[in-house]
Amino acid sequence: MTTSRRKFITGASLAGGAAASTLAFPAIAQSQPTVKWRLASSYPKSLDTVFGGADLLSKRVAALTGGKFQIQVFAAGEIVPGLQVADAVQNGTVECGHTNSYYYIGKNKAFAFETTVPFGINQRQQNAWMYYGGGKELVGDFLKDFNIASFPGGNTGTQMGGWFRKEVKTVADLKGLKIRIAGLGGEVFAKLGAVPQQIAGGDIYPALEKGTIDAAEWVGPYDDEKLGFYKVAKNYYTPGWWEPNSAYSFYVSLKEWEKLPKEYQAAFEAAAYAVNADMMAEYDAKNPTALKRLIANGVKLHSFTNEIMKAAQDAAYGMYDDEAAKNPAFKKIYLSWLKFRDDQLQWHRVAEHTMATFSFANRPKIRTTA
Ligand code: CA
Repeated sequence: MTTSRRKFITGASLAGGAAASTLAFPAIAQSQPTVKWRLASSYPKSLDTVFGGADLLSKRVAALTGGKFQIQVFAAGEIVPGLQVADAVQNGTVECGHTNSYYYIGKNKAFAFETTVPFGINQRQQNAWMYYGGGKELVGDFLKDFNIASFPGGNTGTQMGGWFRKEVKTVADLKGLKIRIAGLGGEVFAKLGAVPQQIAGGDIYPALEKGTIDAAEWVGPYDDEKLGFYKVAKNYYTPGWWEPNSAYSFYVSLKEWEKLPKEYQAAFEAAAYAVNADMMAEYDAKNPTALKRLIANGVKLHSFTNEIMKAAQDAAYGMYDDEAAKNPAFKKIYLSWLKFRDDQLQWHRVAEHTMATFSFANRPKIRTTA
């Protein structure tokens, strides 16, 4: 007995390598440098969903590195305005940011794909494209010229179509309409005769209240309720055809990224992954009750007419074709994305669409009274 025990102990200590390296790990962690980064968010603190995404990233990264890698989060306007986060990352004002790529289509329309494009793909399909469909590589290659490494950092799902002071039924009703909208959706509205304005999240309500704009879109019931649009515009439209998904991105300075210890890079990537999953779950859990509250407050829900939807879709794809003809960076991403979209739509109509269509139309017979 004693002998075999000794053998066991000896064997264990001789097994050596693996056990020793496991024990040594905390020492390695202790020897890692303290790294302090600043993150500029494009969003106000009042939006707990999306601003909270950067907070969650910061907390997860700290937890995964024993508190050694610290990321301090700043709201829009604290370091740079909400729509200048990419510039701040690119020129080294901050090490990283949390933003929407489509705020930067003024630099190149190819920035749009990472967030969304009108009449494009939904949140599941966006993740599939980014993680497994070549999207991350295409976006990564494109952003190298801007000194940016990018990581998916949350999603809203299909957005709502925004808040209108007056009802809109025909394309003619859009003529001259001043609407706050970001990304390529604004350019589609312009082709339909409207006047799009890009305004950061925290500044939309005052513009709508003053009547500087006639309509505004942001995200969906939960966020929109917080921003208070229902108090000044009662017509709430669906769907946000310009954002069938809307992905947030963590932008990191490539120079700073390359200086990070491998373990910290892994921690950052894991934390970004967590935020990406967490935010969609949060929106999905919170939107239904927010929509009920809005309707109880007198909000009128409308669907965009087929006339507007079809005209917008034609204008959108016409614009992509025109852009691809003159912009090689756009074309490279667009052609890959377009093939992926076609495959996804064919597949999703088979199981997802069939199941959802039945479920939306048929309530189950409930047998319990509990
Ligand atoms: Ca939006």
